[in-house]
Amino acid sequence: MDQGASVGKTRHDCAKDLWSICMEELKTIIPPPYFGTLIEHVKPLSIENSTLRIAVPNKFNKDIIESKFIAALTDCARRVSGKELELDLIVSPDAFTSDGNSAEVEQPISDNGSESQTRTYPETLRTPLLPEKPAPKRYTFENFVVGKGNRFAYYASLMVAEAPGQNYNPLFIYGGTGLGKTHLLLAIEDYAKRLNPQIRLKYVQTSTFIDEFIKTITLKKDRSAFDQKYIQNRIVLFDDIQALGGTDATQHKFFDIFNLLYSANSHIVLSSDRPPREIPHLSDRIQSRFEGGLNVDIAPPDLETRVAILYMKSKAEGVEIPDDAMLYIASQVESNIRTLEGLFLRVVASARLYGTKIDLAMVQEVLKDHVPETESKLSPTIELIQKVVSDYYGVSHAELVGNSRSRNLVHARQVAMYLCRDLTNETLISIGSNFGGRDHSTVLHSCKKVEEMIKESKDILHEVNELTNKINKSG
Ligand code: ADP
Ligand code: MG
Repeated sequence: MDQGASVGKTRHDCAKDLWSICMEELKTIIPPPYFGTLIEHVKPLSIENSTLRIAVPNKFNKDIIESKFIAALTDCARRVSGKELELDLIVSPDAFTSDGNSAEVEQPISDNGSESQTRTYPETLRTPLLPEKPAPKRYTFENFVVGKGNRFAYYASLMVAEAPGQNYNPLFIYGGTGLGKTHLLLAIEDYAKRLNPQIRLKYVQTSTFIDEFIKTITLKKDRSAFDQKYIQNRIVLFDDIQALGGTDATQHKFFDIFNLLYSANSHIVLSSDRPPREIPHLSDRIQSRFEGGLNVDIAPPDLETRVAILYMKSKAEGVEIPDDAMLYIASQVESNIRTLEGLFLRVVASARLYGTKIDLAMVQEVLKDHVPETESKLSPTIELIQKVVSDYYGVSHAELVGNSRSRNLVHARQVAMYLCRDLTNETLISIGSNFGGRDHSTVLHSCKKVEEMIKESKDILHEVNELTNKINKSG
C-alpha cells in the first residue's frame, strides 16, 4: 500500500484495505476447508513499521496458520502492498465478539467454498416459501460446524485427508453418540477424493468388518481377498471400532491388517464411543497401537455451536427460522447432535406439512412432547465431579488428585475443587482430603482462583458452565 493512499486513513483502515485484497487472492490458493474455517476468521488490526498485525480468535487457529499458511499469507501481503511486510498473529478473542462473530464457533463455508455465512439472519432468508423436499445430506468438512468441543478432531481429520500417512497415524477419534465422528470420517473420504480422485480409500463400519471376516472363515472363502480389500488402500477408516472388543479371531486379523497398513505408511483412522483403554476386551497390543497415534475426543457442543449447526441446516434446507425459535430448539438438546437434527427436522417437516410459518410459538407447539435433558435435582458427589472433570480435561483420577504442577493438571484440579465447593455441601476439609489430603486453605485458594478466572475469561466461564451441566446431568 503506498504512502499516498494511506493519507487520512488510520492504520486500521490501511490494514483492512490491504487484507480485503489479500483475501480475494488467498481464497484461490488456500483449500476451501481451511479458508472457510481459518483464514476467513482472521481480522486485520494495523500496519505499523512494516508489521501487519492480524487477530485470530484462538491459539489453536494461530498454531495452524503459523505452521501451514504463514508463508502464503506473508507472501500475499507483500505482493499486494509492495512492501517487505512481516505478519504478527495475535490471539484476540475480543476482536471477534464485538460484531457478533463468535470467537469459538468457526462458520462453515458454503458448498462452493467461497461465500461465507454471517451470524445475522439476513432478510433474504426470511421468505415464507419452503422448498418441497429436504436437501440430501452431505458429510463434508464444509458442512461440519467447528466449535470448541470438536475443533481438534476436525483439523486432525483435515490433515489426514490432505496428507495421508504423514502425521497423526493412527488417528483415533472418540466421543459420545451423535457428536459427529462418522461425519468426520466420511468428510475425510470426501475431501481426500476431491484432492486426489485416484486415491484408494476404504470406509468401513467395524461391525461389517467383523461380519465379513467371520463369513470368510466360516464359508472358507479366500482370506487373502479379504485382506486385499483393506491393505491396498492409502486411507482406511474404521468407524465404531469399539465393536472390536471381545472378538478374538477378528482382533488377530485386524492386528495384522493394521500392521500391514501402518508399515506401508497408509493412514488408519478409527472412531470409537470411548477411548482405547476403555474398550472392553480389547487386546493390549491393539490398545497400545491405538494409543501410539493421536487420540482426540469430541466433546458435546456448547449452545453457540448448536445454534450454528441449526443455522447451517436451515440455510441448507432453505427455511427461515427466527433467532428465538432457533435458540429454543438448540436449548432442548445438549449432548447429541443427531437428536438436535431430529428436532429441527420435526419442525421443518411440520411447517411443510401444515404450511405454517416457523416461529417460537410454532416450535414450542411442535416440540411440546420432547422432554429436554433436565438437570438432576440431587446434589452430586465429589467422586462424580472428579470423574466428569477428569474426562473433560482428559486426565486420570490419579493425576487430578496428585501432585503434578503441570499447567493443565493444576487447572483441572482447581476447577474440580471449585465445582465440589459449588455443587456439593461438603466442607473444605472433606474436599481437601478427597484431593490427595490437601489442606483446606489450598482448597479455598483454588476456589478463589477459579472465581477470578471466571470473571476474567469467557473460556473459563464456559468450561465451568459446561462442566456444571455435565455433572448435573450425570447425577
Ligand atoms: P457419531 O458418529 O459421533 O455418532 P454422526 O457423525 O453420525 O455422530 O453425527 C450425527 C449427526 O449430527 C449427523 O447427521 C452429523 O452430520 C451431524 N453433526 C454432528 N456434528 C456436527 C457438526 N459439528 N456440524 C454439523 N453437523 C454435525
Ligand atoms: Mg457414528
